[in-house]
Amino acid sequence: MIHSNFRGLFVSVLLCVATSAHAAALVPIQGYSFTVLSSVGQEAKARELADRCEKAFQYFVGLYKSKPAKISLLALSKSDWSQYSVYPAYGMPNYANGELTVATESNDLWDSFVEIIRQNAPEAYKVMEQVYGRSGKIEMSQFFDLLVVHELAHSFQEQGGVRLPRLWLNELFANLSLHSYISENEPAQLPVLLTAPAILAGMDPNMLPFHTLSDFEGHYSDMDPQNYGWYQAKFHSAAAQVYDAAGASPAQAVWSAFLNHNSSTMQDNELLVFLESRGAGKVAEVARTWPK
Ligand SMILES: [Zn+2]
Repeated sequence: MIHSNFRGLFVSVLLCVATSAHAAALVPIQGYSFTVLSSVGQEAKARELADRCEKAFQYFVGLYKSKPAKISLLALSKSDWSQYSVYPAYGMPNYANGELTVATESNDLWDSFVEIIRQNAPEAYKVMEQVYGRSGKIEMSQFFDLLVVHELAHSFQEQGGVRLPRLWLNELFANLSLHSYISENEPAQLPVLLTAPAILAGMDPNMLPFHTLSDFEGHYSDMDPQNYGWYQAKFHSAAAQVYDAAGASPAQAVWSAFLNHNSSTMQDNELLVFLESRGAGKVAEVARTWPK
């Protein structure tokens, strides 16, 4: 979800501190196309996440004809998070400088989205129980466990030389990649991937501090995690619509359009026209129809 190209020097300093301590405290797990480091005692969960990440890695190699030079998957307990993650809230998956960081334990952040739905969409709560219910509790780990694939997509894009000129396009691209992977490799997980985002995305955007795409660009780093989660829910639902209309080809089209392409000075409308001219009209349509 969060990726940190735009978070500046503060993050870089934190990351240097964190990187220097990896080898001593985390457990390496062998057998994957990338480095896997697990918190002590979380190795079984780390393997489960790494197995999915490996399948997605091979899928993306085929989809984008590219391979990241060096990435690490960090599967972290609550107690290790603050030492290694560039994003402070436990449970918010993130990608920075080759490191995919995900949580291995249920947490308050994941539960907070259940509470938002309980309060604002009580009619949808029964659907949540059907999809995410486990032993009498709604357990969002099933959903958040899928997001390692979203972070992996960021790593392919960044290390593959694909420079996307907007944060919304970065996140939509990652969710398009995730949705394509799940649809083609783990279709039984589609209800887990889509149900909570569809409910959140259906809420009135005017009740949030930020809801436009220009707000997303301007407040990416300082909005609260729940507001950020609403944006991601919208990107998940949009990715599903794009995939249902045109499969994985719009994701490939975005990749090709911005591969080694300097687009940093593009104005908003110029960007959408460019996307349309390069076979990613469905992606442009997401921006054109976004709540104003
Ligand atoms: Zn992301």
